[in-house]
Amino acid sequence: MDYDLIVVGGGPAGMLGAATAAANGLKVVLLEKNEKLGKKLFITGKGRCNFTNNGDTDDFLNNIVTNKKFLYSAFKSFSNYQLIALLESLGLKTKVERGNRVFPESDKSSDVIKALHKYLQLNNVEIRLNTEVKELLVRDHQITGVSLNSKQISAEKVLIATGGMSYRQTGSTGDGYRMAQQLGHSIVEPKPALVPLVTGEKWVKDLQGLTLKNVTVKIINKKAKAEQFGEMIFTHFGVSGPIILSISSFLKENFASPVKLRIDLKPALSDEQLDDRLQRDFNKFTGKHLKNSLDDLLPQKMIPVILELSGVDMHKQVNQISKIERGLLAHTLKNLPLTVTGTRPLNEAIITSGGINVKEINPSTLESKIIKGLYFAGEVIDVDALTGGYNLQIAFSTGYLSGSSSAND
Ligand SMILES: Cc1cc2nc3c(=O)[nH]c(=O)nc-3n(C[C@H](O)[C@H](O)[C@H](O)COP(=O)(O)OP(=O)(O)OC[C@H]3O[C@@H](n4cnc5c(N)ncnc54)[C@H](O)[C@@H]3O)c2cc1C
Repeated sequence: MDYDLIVVGGGPAGMLGAATAAANGLKVVLLEKNEKLGKKLFITGKGRCNFTNNGDTDDFLNNIVTNKKFLYSAFKSFSNYQLIALLESLGLKTKVERGNRVFPESDKSSDVIKALHKYLQLNNVEIRLNTEVKELLVRDHQITGVSLNSKQISAEKVLIATGGMSYRQTGSTGDGYRMAQQLGHSIVEPKPALVPLVTGEKWVKDLQGLTLKNVTVKIINKKAKAEQFGEMIFTHFGVSGPIILSISSFLKENFASPVKLRIDLKPALSDEQLDDRLQRDFNKFTGKHLKNSLDDLLPQKMIPVILELSGVDMHKQVNQISKIERGLLAHTLKNLPLTVTGTRPLNEAIITSGGINVKEINPSTLESKIIKGLYFAGEVIDVDALTGGYNLQIAFSTGYLSGSSSAND
């Protein structure tokens, strides 16, 4: 055999998997089809790389959207705290920001890649760039190596860490799904997650570019009871921003019938408090038209939209607004309706939901239950999480577990 372990894919999962296996004594080669390692890692966190979260185990599990139980062993074998300690031992200074998000102190994702590269070198992992794996080689349900364009490389074990299918220009083009499927693995249909949403309402276009802070968005007509608080933005196609991306992870459907969302523009105020607030504003702007009396409450651009949707005459003077009309206005402010007709394409998604079916992978080792010696790590598996550093921690934890178990089996 040429190697003990071949790792396919030089993203975070593959890099940590390769280095961990080598640290445990295996002769390892890491094959990456791009001209450099970690192309997707480089663009994470807007180039700052929110590589994990400083929360506790419960927090982690609460932020995993798909197959959290499957990830117990991986998180146990390599936690966020172990990841931070490892990267710091490799010279990376780190910092914790709002929401316990952990970043390199330099705000440079390239420093995370450098640290991982150093770890690969320290453990003598052979790195082959511009090397695309085309197929997996198997004999009698046992992996025997991989085939490239014109040659084959043999190994006792192979780790697939080829990522998902979003941002294809970074190298994740779904190769791992295809190769695993050829060997009998089933693939849960890859779908976009953490993705902007396309909406049906015409008025959304009028608000293009407007950011709303401290609002709540809720799914209304679906079983999923997701609700998110924070920031969102209106775009030419619909809505985006942190809370919209998070909500999208709970909408894994074909949108045969539209999904209803509600935005609460004033989540900190109860109905009663909002009514008091409206009365105070109306007193302040007494004698003015309704449309000119909401400047303290709403961004300018939103006022005509809210008034139109509430059905209250915007040309009425505020002192003539009845209690019922105030109620209509307050209701719209707390229940702004949005109709989601679809998501932006998978290529624009932060993460791919779906992938290798977890029922066919041993969660304690990440070895295939179908092919002996075949392991999986990272986004190629059917797991995904919300934003906050959780997806990269999944890649690192599963990378570590697959690397260490491939050495210990
Ligand atoms: C814009 C953006 C921002 C993000 N920001 C964050 C963030 O701040 N925090 C966070 O936690 N997550 C973030 N994510 C998600 C995170 O980047 C992914 O979850 C993570 O990169 C998955 O790691 P991976 O190693 O499984 O796959 P990838 O990083 O996709 O790596 C897979 C590698 O395999 C290689 N490969 C594929 N096929 C082959 C083949 N046939 N032969 C050889 N090599 C192959 C690819 O070229 C690629 O280098 C972000 C994602 C995007 C798109």
